Amino acid sequence: MSTRRAAWTASVAALLACAVAACSSPSASSVERASRRTPHSVGNAAVRAAEAAASAMTSASVRPTGSPAAEIDPAPFLGRPLKRAPFATRKVALTLDDGPSRNTAEVLSIFERLNARCTFFFVGGRVRGYRSVAKQAYETGFEIGNHTWDHQEIHETPLAFDLKEIDRCQAELVEVTGHEAVFVRPPTGHWDDATLRAAGERGMVLALWSLHGQDTGPGTHARTITSGVLRSARGGDVILLHETNPETVKALPAIIEGLRAKGLEPVTLSELLTR
Ligand SMILES: [Zn+2]
Repeated sequence: MSTRRAAWTASVAALLACAVAACSSPSASSVERASRRTPHSVGNAAVRAAEAAASAMTSASVRPTGSPAAEIDPAPFLGRPLKRAPFATRKVALTLDDGPSRNTAEVLSIFERLNARCTFFFVGGRVRGYRSVAKQAYETGFEIGNHTWDHQEIHETPLAFDLKEIDRCQAELVEVTGHEAVFVRPPTGHWDDATLRAAGERGMVLALWSLHGQDTGPGTHARTITSGVLRSARGGDVILLHETNPETVKALPAIIEGLRAKGLEPVTLSELLTR
């Protein structure tokens, strides 16, 4: 927690300095965020970077990270599992579990093409085989969550075990992205008091879901996944999907466009929780 707080403080200081000085060489990530979040802005890169910094400063709940993705301050969401937005909203969070995988690059390109972002829940032990794509995901505005080191369930297990599963994954994520995840999702969604305590001790939000995409059983088909999600999705939902299923990946464009057709905007978990 202290490491994260220090990083946050440094990010805020850097952004403020950039805004005040209208620095002439903003990082690529600042420009990317400015262009993605303020589509009507014009002017040079320095102006856009200053706008991004000012925009970030206006919302107390959003914690700039120095990357394209802004993440929430987890403090208000600690101590209980998070299943959906605790307020009315037309946003929904798309969460993609169990990667990174051979499908991650395609998922990135689908979201990029449709100008949307999601939250990935990466398994720490799987990141090693896909470090470059995991880094790319983080640097292009996707949110990365912690899905334990090796996808072992962390309920009915001692606190020390849960902490180790979380910490090993977190260390891998930090090594690849330079950033600590804010959210942890227990494999299979099972959790107990020790799981919740482990998340809390690390200053992380225990992230569950309110809508299961039903994309894990045998014989799942893209059309069935799409229609199930679109039939049930309501504003504020956290939608669980799995990038490891090629049928899920195939369904993503129709899911994103279908949600928008219903007046729902797919976003990251942090964006869902930002009023
Ligand atoms: Zn999983």
